[in-house]
Amino acid sequence: MSESSQVRVRFAPSPTGFFHIGSARTALFNWLYARHVGGTFVLRIEDTDKARNTDESLRVLLEGMRWLGLNWDEGPEVGGGAGPYFQSQRADIYAAYRDRLLASGRAYEKDGAVWFRLEGERYTAYDDFKKSEVEKVRSKPIVIEDAVRGRVERSEETDFVIFRNTGDPVFHFVNVVDDIEMGITHVIRGEDHLSNTSKHAELFQAFGAPLPQFAHIPLILKQSGPGKMSKRDQGALIEEYAKRHFLPEAVRNYLCLLGWNPKDDREKMPIEDIIEAFDFKGINKGNARFDERKLSSLNTEYLRELPVESFAWLARPVLAEAKVLDEAADEDYLQKVLKLCQPKARSIEDLPDYLAYFFREDFTQDPKATKKIAGRSDFTEVLDLLVALLSDVEPFEVPNLEATLQAAADAQGAKVFSWFPVLRFALSGQSGGPDLLPMLTVLGKDRVLARLARSLDAAAH
Ligand code: GLU
Repeated sequence: MSESSQVRVRFAPSPTGFFHIGSARTALFNWLYARHVGGTFVLRIEDTDKARNTDESLRVLLEGMRWLGLNWDEGPEVGGGAGPYFQSQRADIYAAYRDRLLASGRAYEKDGAVWFRLEGERYTAYDDFKKSEVEKVRSKPIVIEDAVRGRVERSEETDFVIFRNTGDPVFHFVNVVDDIEMGITHVIRGEDHLSNTSKHAELFQAFGAPLPQFAHIPLILKQSGPGKMSKRDQGALIEEYAKRHFLPEAVRNYLCLLGWNPKDDREKMPIEDIIEAFDFKGINKGNARFDERKLSSLNTEYLRELPVESFAWLARPVLAEAKVLDEAADEDYLQKVLKLCQPKARSIEDLPDYLAYFFREDFTQDPKATKKIAGRSDFTEVLDLLVALLSDVEPFEVPNLEATLQAAADAQGAKVFSWFPVLRFALSGQSGGPDLLPMLTVLGKDRVLARLARSLDAAAH
């Protein structure tokens, strides 16, 4: 077996809120790296904060990961040899590790808490913040060769608490103990944890454990303005994308590009190609900026590539829920409409508005289109002409429609294209939509002539 298959990475979320885009991206980068090297992707739930953890958050998290296709090799629901994978079930392990430090003198008790003792020369300094004297330590600087940030040097200056006086272990301690116990070789996490890494490194060394390879990935900035994306920002929660019928492949592809790129111009990439190209060298040092337009346009691209059956399978319940379809909707007609609309539709979410006029006569008219098209001085003249021309087309199919309209335009020295907006508006109330002549054939001759007649009628009043 190659050495790379020994790689073990973990995603270690605290289930205290929703599944945020930043967490999802951290999970994704761990997953990508594991798949790239053929290693193991562990999911560990850091649920030590009893007051803030909820079952609901855990459910949303697991669902979100599954939706994105980020399957884990060890962790909740799948098990594995390094469990349990919930920190709330690992109290005995933490106590044993604490006792090791107490026994070796690297930890001591004070005020009911357990403290980690730094090595180095101790001295007293005045703390401006606390307005009192404190004991400080000249500890050896910790050097971390971060796979993304490069060489990072930092030193701790004071002993720190590892068990609170409530008896609960703190994050730094359990995080490191579990990384040791679970044999984690690479710690890939958000840059907001970089400042914790020197504490973590001190703990690894105190246990005589080798340091994992750290890789701190850049923050995700909000769409505009300064600051990192927060839970409250539009587009921040993975479950929103699921609710809005985004394609998970598209969201995942977009998340890959938040802080990583294949060093060429490719953006839309099959996940197999991303897995192959993914490594730490491709991760940017600079922060990534969230761009919802780019995400939406990637989603549109993925949507257009779906087999029409899959597109229909996604569209149907959304159209039914929006009451565009009723129970009696003709399946054959629906399939034709969807096939026609797929190449132009922007999202599943917009479909009800985009194609409602195929299913109802009382469709709304776009105000801008009304002004621009129904306001044309030749509007009724063109409608009259279209009624006359289209009544005679038999069979009502694209080549015939094209030939009839073209011949009439040639005879009059007019341009066919100048009639199209009028035709489309009368049939749909819109200025844009699927290809026009195929749309006529899907609507069918009777519907087309009836709508043209109604439009003429309305124009006359
Ligand atoms: N529970 C921590 C978090 O959610 C994990 C940090 C880490 O990956 O080491 O931020």
